[in-house]
Amino acid sequence: MSIAQGGIKPYQTQYWYFYRLEDVAREHGFSLNTPIKNLSKEQLNLLLYGENFERHKYRTRFGQVREHTEGWEGVIPRMERLYRETESEYSRAEAERYMVTKPCLECQGKRLEAEALAVTIGEKNIFDVSGLPVSQTLAWVTALNRGINPFFPNANN
Ligand SMILES: [Zn+2]
Repeated sequence: MSIAQGGIKPYQTQYWYFYRLEDVAREHGFSLNTPIKNLSKEQLNLLLYGENFERHKYRTRFGQVREHTEGWEGVIPRMERLYRETESEYSRAEAERYMVTKPCLECQGKRLEAEALAVTIGEKNIFDVSGLPVSQTLAWVTALNRGINPFFPNANN
């Protein structure tokens, strides 16, 4: 299937979006009628991840906020952006059909950098402590106050 035939599933019927791609595609030696399986790795990369994309917001002389875009926003960045920006539950659910949930390889879902997680006080890092039940957090803090923690030697004073 080509792009024109609806080969990009989430945008099957949004021809106006691919109209923007025509010039960029020509520069890169393909067209909207090229079967997607015949695209080179570079062409496919361009289609999916975009090129020279810029977005400008401006205000008209009547005070309306408008948007101007340049270049080609790839299929994937566009989808990610619409997912973030939409206030419609329907649109979000539509986008989710093309997404998978995976734990982050860097932080395993802790949402902190390795450097932050490497810092420990009383043998616990910030993620460990914030995951403790309140009673155990109290025990941990109390232990620090007894001077077990070498970083705050004056904690007993
Ligand atoms: Zn992460």
